[in-house]
Amino acid sequence: MPRIKFSSDCKRYSLLIRSEHLQEIYQYCRVAKDNETGGMIIGLYDKNGSIAMTKGILGPTPDSRFGNTWFYRGVSGLKQFFNNLWTRDSLHLLGEWHFHPGGSPDFSHVDIKQIEKLAMDEKYNCSTPILLIVGESKNIFSIGVYVLASVGKLIILK
Ligand SMILES: [Zn+2]
Repeated sequence: MPRIKFSSDCKRYSLLIRSEHLQEIYQYCRVAKDNETGGMIIGLYDKNGSIAMTKGILGPTPDSRFGNTWFYRGVSGLKQFFNNLWTRDSLHLLGEWHFHPGGSPDFSHVDIKQIEKLAMDEKYNCSTPILLIVGESKNIFSIGVYVLASVGKLIILK
């Protein structure tokens, strides 16, 4: 299965995303149409912790709420899910994805705040989360991939 690699200019951070996982995200976006949607990215890190590899995509939880220009990621079922993930499958939460219908895949001020919140939440054990944003124009998707290297420092992966 083909994979697409995104890396930071400094080469410290990379994401290998399987094309089937990208298609899965796009499918959630198509279903959401004009509304924002989002979820989480699950995967593994290599030995050095610098290359993240996707193993699965989660869509919006049932308690997620959304509108045309905002998305609140819910939490229902996640605690149990992640407990199982770590103990049984040794997988990690890599980060989050969300959709900007009719917008660019650039991150907003609110997006930075939300990914920082995730990084600081110990129950997710994800201190340098990836943020993947899907933009859309005339039904064509584009993506922006970022990593929160430290608080206030969101680096682009390309
Ligand atoms: Zn956003």
